[in-house]
Amino acid sequence: LTILGLESSCDDTAAAVLRIEGDAPTILSSIVHGQNDLHAAYGGIVPEIAARAHAEKLDICVKAALNKANTPLSKIDAVAVTAGPGLIGGVLSGVMCAKGIAAGAGLPLIGVNHLAGHALTPRLTDGIAYPYLMLLASGGHCQFLIVRGCEDFNRLGGTIDDAPGEAFDKTARLLGLPQPGGPSVEREAMQGDPARFRFPRPLLDRPGCDMSFSGLKTALLRARDDLIAAQGGLTHQDRADLCAGFQAAVADVLAEKTRRALETYLGEAPPVPAFAVAGGVAANSAIRTVLQTAADAAQTAFVAPPLALCTDNAAMIAYAGAELLRAGQCDDMTLAARPRWPLDRSGPALLGGGK
Ligand code: ATP
Ligand code: FE
Repeated sequence: LTILGLESSCDDTAAAVLRIEGDAPTILSSIVHGQNDLHAAYGGIVPEIAARAHAEKLDICVKAALNKANTPLSKIDAVAVTAGPGLIGGVLSGVMCAKGIAAGAGLPLIGVNHLAGHALTPRLTDGIAYPYLMLLASGGHCQFLIVRGCEDFNRLGGTIDDAPGEAFDKTARLLGLPQPGGPSVEREAMQGDPARFRFPRPLLDRPGCDMSFSGLKTALLRARDDLIAAQGGLTHQDRADLCAGFQAAVADVLAEKTRRALETYLGEAPPVPAFAVAGGVAANSAIRTVLQTAADAAQTAFVAPPLALCTDNAAMIAYAGAELLRAGQCDDMTLAARPRWPLDRSGPALLGGGK
């Protein structure tokens, strides 16, 4: 099976070609075209600009992916596309493009939940078996899931407000560091003292796996303003220490909640215990380290995909599409773009159309 994947739900336009022989997937190409330069002047993603850029770049990315994979469209067996959740304009651009290709080439079309793409990535990269515990920590989401199948996700808990990636991005904005915030805050934190500022670790006193990251950003804002009021500005060291303190607080919360999620998951006696992480925040090496430690303490294998497959890409969409296709799922020209699309059926109420 050779499958073309498309992704355009946020600020990356991506296309990939994936081949699956037996159970073994090979990424033949994975093209990601970011939009950071387009949004830099606005301090955040502007949905309308994102949608236009996706519409312009999708064709180019698809051609580049097919070229790089040395695979003409005639050798593609199916088209998988992110159908949500995400910024509606971008998702629509991707879905329309995929429909065009599928209709033109007479190929099956599969709409993929972007979060399922992230959540199934450890199977693509490391071939782990179901069930496994997943921490999905990205720019828009943060949740613990027991993944039992490509359509079977059980949410144990997650953030009740901001996602951690969003908190990294806001922190960077408050400190005048470039976007996306994750890598720039991590870089600063390496030079900083995590003990100088003690930021809150919300919800640790409450049972369960729910998290909160919005108070952290307010605490950081206050610390920054206190420094500015006292000394008229921020030194390089202040910035590094603020980043280190912030990152340590996020890591502590994720570590403790991971410990609890592992406890629940291991209580179900999975045949081969495994804990995997995905989403852009999984690119953070301090966070990876505490997650590894939590997994080691629970004698559970830890799987962290390579950085390029932790952030948005189309290889994960192609892979999730392939699993859905194998499970007998397929869409048609009525496939709808869904701005909201919770993974877990027991999660918040479904909005929008689609399956
Ligand atoms: P979602 O998948 O929830 O729709 P998204 O697709 O925007 O959101 P991803 O591409 O998975 O999210 O991840 C992007 C996020 O990851 C950004 O918020 C970015 O700041 C964060 N991130 C990237 N690298 C790092 C890092 N090294 N440390 C912390 N956060 C990081
Ligand atoms: Fe994502």
